[in-house]
Amino acid sequence: MKALVNKKSAIVVFSGGQDSTTCLFWAKKRYEEVIAVSFDYGQRHAFELECAKDICKKYEVEHHILNLDLLNQLAPNSLTRVDIAVDKTHETDTPPNSFVDGRNLLFLTFVAILAKQRNINHIITGVSQSDFSGYPDCRDVFIKSLNVTLNLSMDYEFVMHTPLMWIDKMETWQLADELEVLDIIKNETLTCYNGIIGDGCGDCPACHLRRNGYNAYMAIRK
Ligand code: ZN
Repeated sequence: MKALVNKKSAIVVFSGGQDSTTCLFWAKKRYEEVIAVSFDYGQRHAFELECAKDICKKYEVEHHILNLDLLNQLAPNSLTRVDIAVDKTHETDTPPNSFVDGRNLLFLTFVAILAKQRNINHIITGVSQSDFSGYPDCRDVFIKSLNVTLNLSMDYEFVMHTPLMWIDKMETWQLADELEVLDIIKNETLTCYNGIIGDGCGDCPACHLRRNGYNAYMAIRK
């Protein structure tokens, strides 16, 4: 007999950045129990994990950090290797060099294993096709495909949620505002490739994207 879908609990793939923190609060509004999972894969800035830890502690979210060093062994890139510079600009039809092949595939698979162990069906990830940037595993078709594969692989009813899939950075700020966490997202999350919390260095591609979205939202905010 199939297990009943647990509607009360959810697991969020959590990096401590703007997108996944917005998803964390999205989940907290909807589920009684929210668990956050972060991955340690030798990120350029271990501070990212510290930031994720701080947010979970402050907002009382159970937090797991899973070691995924393997990812760095398989796919050394600018986010994990200090000797490879992050692209300042990149061609829009090819992934930037911050791309790690298979990252979301691996993250979501490990999260699903943990979810099943905890009798949790709902998995939330902050991937967005609007910010696609050439990342194939941020696409809706990939998430839907993986959902089917995970369900078949574990004979279990996972339900994957992607609150940011069809919205851009401006609308992500708007969502944070609707969730009444705009200031938390602005001041306590880390998106910057140079490891500077909040508004960041202001100069890297992640800071540009984040700030442009914020300014666009401020311009239309009532
Ligand atoms: Zn930056």
